[in-house]
Amino acid sequence: MKEGKIIILSAPSGSGKSSIIRRLMEIADLCLGFSVSATSRKPRGDERDGVEYYFLSEKEFKERAERGEFVEWEEVYPGTCYGTLLSEVTRVTHAGRNLIMDVDVKGALNIKEFFGEKALALFIMPPSKEELEKRLRSRSTDSEDSILKRLAKADFEMGFAPKFDDVVVNDNLEAAVNKTASLIRGFSGIEEDKAE
Ligand code: ADP
Ligand code: 5GP
Repeated sequence: MKEGKIIILSAPSGSGKSSIIRRLMEIADLCLGFSVSATSRKPRGDERDGVEYYFLSEKEFKERAERGEFVEWEEVYPGTCYGTLLSEVTRVTHAGRNLIMDVDVKGALNIKEFFGEKALALFIMPPSKEELEKRLRSRSTDSEDSILKRLAKADFEMGFAPKFDDVVVNDNLEAAVNKTASLIRGFSGIEEDKAE
């Protein structure tokens, strides 16, 4: 069986990565499997353990990091860690599926360096800072403190965009999903005319 590729999506929080990934997962010919990250933050809205994230206590997160269970992990916001478990990478790629992951900019570039040619790193760009703030507020799942932390980091994150293999602007969701799907097909050798 052909081993799956690694598709990395990164962007400032609120740009629409999760919305794009949810739609891509429904496109059968992309043959995607989502990499469920671990985090030390609490679930938001209706997030479920083992679906959007593995929600770990800070202590458990650190213990698993010390045991070498992560391919990479970062303290993305002060006091909040996120990481990709090696077990997730093998679970999905050994089943022949392409692994899609949502990670912060530093994690994305570390994973790209680790997996080299096997990985495609895409940056999802919001149309503007104003629109980003509007989306974070309209999601109505984050506290004011969490929204401000995310906005404060957006310029730093957007500065990393040129280091990615490609940039997709998420203005119209449908168009952003189509462009991302097309880039994934090109990278993993899926013929466009077989696309749904
Ligand atoms: P992220 O995963 O990058 O943090 P989300 O996917 O949660 O972002 O999107 C943030 C908010 O913006 C959500 O409420 C989502 O419905 C909305 N959203 C996503 N893409 C678009 C778009 N193209 N136009 C308008 N709203 C969008
Ligand atoms: P959120 O709290 O909005 O779900 O995610 C916050 C940030 O953490 C986003 O930038 C997201 O991409 C990043 N993130 C999620 N999972 C991982 C991971 O496994 N590793 C790294 N480095 N960042 C992650």
